[in-house]
Amino acid sequence: MEELSAAAQRLSWEPSNGKEGKPMKTSLRGPHVLSFDILERVLPKSRTGIFALGFEDREGRFRVQSVGRDDYDLRARLCELIGSSAMFKFATHPTARQAFDHECELFHALRPPSNFIHPGRPAGTDWQCAHCLQFH
Ligand SMILES: [Zn+2]
Repeated sequence: MEELSAAAQRLSWEPSNGKEGKPMKTSLRGPHVLSFDILERVLPKSRTGIFALGFEDREGRFRVQSVGRDDYDLRARLCELIGSSAMFKFATHPTARQAFDHECELFHALRPPSNFIHPGRPAGTDWQCAHCLQFH
């Protein structure tokens, strides 16, 4: 019983456990094959949003290689990236601020191997990342 309560205590002081602890608990849609035809079908033009590029492993699990954002046209950005990864996931957002926050959240939760630097904030903003003390 001693051990049980210790485990329960440990869980209770880890508020992020279960919320951010699961790497692929994301609200991204997909994965889809990264091709022009698929992009045209699943993603409207001129949307603000974020994406994850990656591939499916042998178990059929989506492996994220990188995450990114486009504040003006997510589909156009992904079209430029065709060929760099096999598959993608995406989410669209009503505002660039929400896209930025979501991108930062994924960046810190997933630590994508191809993202060498922290997501940047749009020029002219002083937005700060909610997940670290770094602002760019
Ligand atoms: Zn951060």
